Amino acid sequence: MRFNLYALGLVLPALLAGCAAPPPVPPREAGERCLARLDQAGVSYALAAQPASVDACAVDTPVRVGATGIAWNQPGVVGCAFALRLDAFIREDVQPLARARFGQGVRQLRHFGTYACRRDTGNGRRWSEHASGRAIDLAGFELEDGTTIAVERDWHGQGAKSRFLHALARRACRRFSVVLTPDSNRDHRNHIHLDDGPWKLCSA
Ligand SMILES: [Zn+2]
Repeated sequence: MRFNLYALGLVLPALLAGCAAPPPVPPREAGERCLARLDQAGVSYALAAQPASVDACAVDTPVRVGATGIAWNQPGVVGCAFALRLDAFIREDVQPLARARFGQGVRQLRHFGTYACRRDTGNGRRWSEHASGRAIDLAGFELEDGTTIAVERDWHGQGAKSRFLHALARRACRRFSVVLTPDSNRDHRNHIHLDDGPWKLCSA
């Protein structure tokens, strides 16, 4: 099931542009190897077209992910490598932590967004890691019994949900380059930002 928008995304712009500048082509071998690993991991995804023509907003092997072991509240476009990292994070960090703290696993991941061709609000307005498809804004989770954990509601306080979210953020710092939380600034009052960019910042 590899034929889809991805191929069109490569071919159509070239046709429309009268074969002028070819669109950026992902490293085929590395991309294919990554996709094979996604298949192996059982991640539910579809190949996605390059989402924007802006160079700064190109994504390496873009995929539209619908589930990584657990369902997502909405699909999200990320680069294949970031999808792999998220999948490992959920299996190896989120699920064990939820079982240890709540005696049950997580059945849904809730997020506010993944890919977005935009600049950061701070930091000299450099391009956001969301623009490269290697970031997600994590809003919370739903446990197997329907209990919800929301970053906005549960980050602060002393309860089990707050402790879970803080422990999760600390583990995320070992896996992702940047972890921003409600402790970072007001922009992150309702989500945990995870990215795989070149900077290192842990706000757990
Ligand atoms: Zn973000």
